[in-house]
Amino acid sequence: MKRTTGLDRSVNRKWRPATRAVRAGTWRSEQGETSEALFLTSGYAYDDAQTVADRFAGEASGMQYSRFQNPTVAMLEERIAAMEGAEACKVQASGMAAMTSALLCMLSSGDHLVAGRAAFGSCRWILANVLSRFGITHTVVDGRDNAAWEAAIQPSTKAFFFETPANPTLDVVDLEYVCGLARAHGIKTVVDNAFATSALQRPLEFGADIVAYSATKLMDGQGRVLAGAVCGSDEWINGTLSPFQRNTGPICSPFNAWVVLKGLETLDLRAHRQSENALEVGRAIEGRVARMLHPGLPSFPQHNLAMKQMDAAGPIFSFVVDGGRERAFAVLDALELIDISNNIGDSKSLACHPASTTHHNMGPEGRAEMGVEEGMIRLNVGLEDPRDLIEDLDQALGRAGL
Ligand SMILES: *Cc1c(COP(=O)(O)O)cnc(C)c1O
Repeated sequence: MKRTTGLDRSVNRKWRPATRAVRAGTWRSEQGETSEALFLTSGYAYDDAQTVADRFAGEASGMQYSRFQNPTVAMLEERIAAMEGAEACKVQASGMAAMTSALLCMLSSGDHLVAGRAAFGSCRWILANVLSRFGITHTVVDGRDNAAWEAAIQPSTKAFFFETPANPTLDVVDLEYVCGLARAHGIKTVVDNAFATSALQRPLEFGADIVAYSATKLMDGQGRVLAGAVCGSDEWINGTLSPFQRNTGPICSPFNAWVVLKGLETLDLRAHRQSENALEVGRAIEGRVARMLHPGLPSFPQHNLAMKQMDAAGPIFSFVVDGGRERAFAVLDALELIDISNNIGDSKSLACHPASTTHHNMGPEGRAEMGVEEGMIRLNVGLEDPRDLIEDLDQALGRAGL
């Protein structure tokens, strides 16, 4: 196969991000296909015994087994790395496989981690229930509070882990400050960039070491497959993460990789259009709800910081209605166009009640600490005409008595 753009990073660097999203990591077979080929194969055959011996000895490049490498998966890895501006990327079966692999590869017994408080429920679960079993301790801080990050540093602190904007309160972490603080203390920063993607925010430019993804969300963008990705230095990805994945197996199926690869070609378009739609919808309903949590709106306390580090605010925002869970359910149940769903990043608009779904496991105290209120609704704004979305929310809020 011919790597038409693949490993030649000088070509990738010359291209602007939207071009990389369409072209980077395209390998062509001898058939000259324009669309990336889907290699549904677990194994590979070799011309002679020495060829395979050389590959197993690490003395020749080439495929060996799809737990190690697969051409479709490799194309996705090259494309994501190029889009992120990272030296290397490995993809995984899901966002949680990506987060777990990244943290297990970074931390050892006796190490300490500082994590942002507002986070995807399972990310908090890994810290409390997996890492803790291996003698890795952690401190949770309010990610918005720069001083709290510094105060939480211990001599054994090896990593900072956070998402920004965070789920579901949209808390924003100051990337430049927190990554700089970590650097100054020899601490590695792992950023979960699922809400923004490289189309809207590139944490490596602010000094992050590792960017990890649920590719299930905006990268696929059409709610089809689960996938994850971890980006970082060539040395860490290929020297540390890759051997871990080869031997433990949280790998991405070639089919799922292919779906995400095609999804990335429209990521820039979708991320920006969905951000615009989310702004329009947010502005239209802001006066109707008790509290709006939308980084793109001037009313958001961290609006300026969000706009400093993001190209656009993204498709997701939350709002709080008076009347708690009962009123929030009444609004959701009255929606006619927008689906009730806990997924995000989809081109279909989706609404969910975080307190009873994505953040149910945290319990009432955990939710109170994180600011996940009973009247909170999280909205993923899709690619529908925003006027239809506004009309739907307008009638649903009206029927719920708002
Ligand atoms: C969805 C999500 C995850 C988990 O990803 P999966 O692909 O569902 O495993 C992790 N972090 C954030 C911020 C997410 O939104």
